[in-house]
Amino acid sequence: MKRLEFHITYSCNHACIFCSEDDRMMEYSKNPLTEIQVRSILVDRAKKWYNHVNFTWGEPTLFPNFLKLLSFTKKIGYKIYVWTNGTSFVSKSFSKEALKYIDELSLSIHWFNQISCKAQTGHKKHFDLFKIIAKNIKTYNQKNFFFSNVVINKSNYMDTLKIIKFVKESDYPVAQVLISNIAPEWLADHNFKDLAFSLDDFKLDIPDIVTYTSQNNIILRFFGLPTCILWRDYEDYSNDGHWQERHTIERYTNDRGNIVLKDTYSPDNSRKRTFVRKCQTCEWRLNPCTWVFKKYLDFYEF
Ligand code: SF4
Repeated sequence: MKRLEFHITYSCNHACIFCSEDDRMMEYSKNPLTEIQVRSILVDRAKKWYNHVNFTWGEPTLFPNFLKLLSFTKKIGYKIYVWTNGTSFVSKSFSKEALKYIDELSLSIHWFNQISCKAQTGHKKHFDLFKIIAKNIKTYNQKNFFFSNVVINKSNYMDTLKIIKFVKESDYPVAQVLISNIAPEWLADHNFKDLAFSLDDFKLDIPDIVTYTSQNNIILRFFGLPTCILWRDYEDYSNDGHWQERHTIERYTNDRGNIVLKDTYSPDNSRKRTFVRKCQTCEWRLNPCTWVFKKYLDFYEF
């Protein structure tokens, strides 16, 4: 697979407390990408053998004519991954049409009840809407592959297992859960002190999470956690070991102050991370670990 991460929208109908795109959405919402721009880039990359695209942040399903874009993208040969907060799937007709084209769908779910949903997403009604969203996805499932992305931060990391159980017990046909540690980027970088939590505390919950997911046939991955936090024999649960190189296309302001599109190549998943002394003798230092977030060391021992 040759992978593209394509940030096609700079608006969102949620206001997640950890959002890494918040600054960019404020900066670029008045300079949205046009359908012709997105299509042109997809065609150009298809000629260069790209065949997997992740439509992502802000909320990609808000892109004008999103269903037409999906149909076009599929027609020119891409495998399509959509990373979404799920709100558009409250519509039956949207769900039915979108799931014809989407190969992999990732729903962001960082909560397990009304209170935690509002606290994480800032959306008062999303918890109630989720019942309809999950049911529509189950009804119009075309044997797509279903992920759930659970971003953990100081206010919800202790509820990680509750969140996974909530997702499993809903109608959403989840096959894989990605537990994503908060990354110090953009707004989350400024707020990192309030969002970061003790990895040593979270480590204690990992065996129960592994047991529950394996008993329920859910594939489990962790993003942004050093392998030594995952415990011995759990190395394969590190998403770092499954990372595939990719190009990210997103809005950017260049040195002259012009708003352009930037293409960033990521050969691995090590951005914003660092080795520490104990890594020097660690068997996982080159694979699968891509270490600890540098900024974490400002607040916690590691
Ligand atoms: S390389 Fe460092 S951060 Fe990674 S598992 Fe080893 S000791 Fe932990």
